[in-house]
Amino acid sequence: MKVSVLGLGYVGCVSAACLASLGHEVVGVDVNQVKVDLVNDGRAPVVEERIGELVAEVVRDGALRATGDVHEAVMSSEVSLVCVGTPSEPNGSLCTTYLERVTEQIGAALAERAGQEGRHTVVFRSTMLPGTCMNLLVPILEKYVGGTAGVDFGVAVNPEFLREGTSVRDFFDPPKTVIGELDPAGGDVVAALYDGLPGAVFRVPVPTAEAIKYADNAFHGLKIGFANELGAVCQALGVDSHQVMDVFLADRKLNISPAYLRPGFAFGGSCLPKDLRSLVHAARQANVSVPILAHVLPSNSEHLQRAVELVERTGTRRVGLFGLSFKPGTDDLRESPLVELAERLFGKGYDLRIYDPNVNLSRLLGANREYIETRLPHLAQLLTESVGEVLDHAEVCLVGTGDPAVLSALPHGEGPLIVDLIRLPDAEARRAEPGYMGLAW
Ligand code: NAD
Repeated sequence: MKVSVLGLGYVGCVSAACLASLGHEVVGVDVNQVKVDLVNDGRAPVVEERIGELVAEVVRDGALRATGDVHEAVMSSEVSLVCVGTPSEPNGSLCTTYLERVTEQIGAALAERAGQEGRHTVVFRSTMLPGTCMNLLVPILEKYVGGTAGVDFGVAVNPEFLREGTSVRDFFDPPKTVIGELDPAGGDVVAALYDGLPGAVFRVPVPTAEAIKYADNAFHGLKIGFANELGAVCQALGVDSHQVMDVFLADRKLNISPAYLRPGFAFGGSCLPKDLRSLVHAARQANVSVPILAHVLPSNSEHLQRAVELVERTGTRRVGLFGLSFKPGTDDLRESPLVELAERLFGKGYDLRIYDPNVNLSRLLGANREYIETRLPHLAQLLTESVGEVLDHAEVCLVGTGDPAVLSALPHGEGPLIVDLIRLPDAEARRAEPGYMGLAW
């Protein structure tokens, strides 16, 4: 394919050289003449493992050239890859100035291309907040071109996951390829660019692709902060943190897996909150500052508050709660987030009824009777014996359990409003129904 790559920084230079080596005919564009001259000289404008040799090779073969002229590059290509910077503004917000400018330039060129054979596809590789493409950039393109994105020209978002330092290796062996497509033909163009590369390809809506990049980077930051804070505590307590992490990382079942990475309701139980609390406490005792670890529980508490706010927004008073134990499949009520939720609603004067089959069973068996009677007498009186009692009472039902008895009895689109705390198995279908709200979208 004939490809123009706009921006010859870390992402653009690596993308341009690697795409050229895959057999595409690539023209790189930058406003910085030094970078343009370097590339045309067969030298890489960034320092990276293998990039020097690669640029030299593809320029020598005539597969890559550079220019300062966006217009000329877009006119002579089928697809444009936008790789300009999106730095932070001083207040922390995303700077879209370079994106807007280059999009205007592409739009102006595409307006002239109109009528030419073959549809052009604009692919955004720069990292940008969900909504940026559809709400900011597509309108710019449509205004300049005088046509419709996804019809007259293709638009896609294709975030970059390379790590500086190993970016050429990452290009040829990507962790994944994410294609946010406005229309399937635009997505096909992106897929064809990387044809033959390994790794899973995910074709998703445009805003989802934008968000995936943030999920990745936020999690990387969280992981690094987590490891560093843990290391600091270990050091203060005289423990070899690398030995700890070696064993931690060897656990592929729970630690390094999709476990715990599904948005849902707040966590709780008798371990996680307690252990986080004591870890943070030990750090404080040892004079070690651990802001990330210290904010995990407050963050969890805020998430729980979002459920309270959903109920408040409904303007109802009679509330039903399905589930009370700290997670489905157990009767353990210790530090249950659903107990906390029930208490917050109870404290605000809501007229509450609760049903949890596991709690009922264990109460019947006597296992948790004492716990309920001594710790939760205010909630014990609200526990019902059946799903129906809750449904008959409630104007809004909070669903915090996937218990089959509850799921099969939940109404669709009539009866009480449904606030789904856990993303029910049929959430996708329910989303279209009136009176359904989800906490975990
Ligand atoms: P960079 O600053 O190194 O390069 C951007 C280049 O775009 C610069 O050379 C600049 O001169 C050029 N440019 C700006 N406006 C232009 C225009 N109108 N026409 C042509 N060229 C123009 O940025 P980068 O590190 O390559 O990052 C680019 C994007 O990719 C950012 O959104 C970044 O968040 C994202 N990203 C970066 C990395 C990384 O490791 N660096 C990884 C993944 C994603």
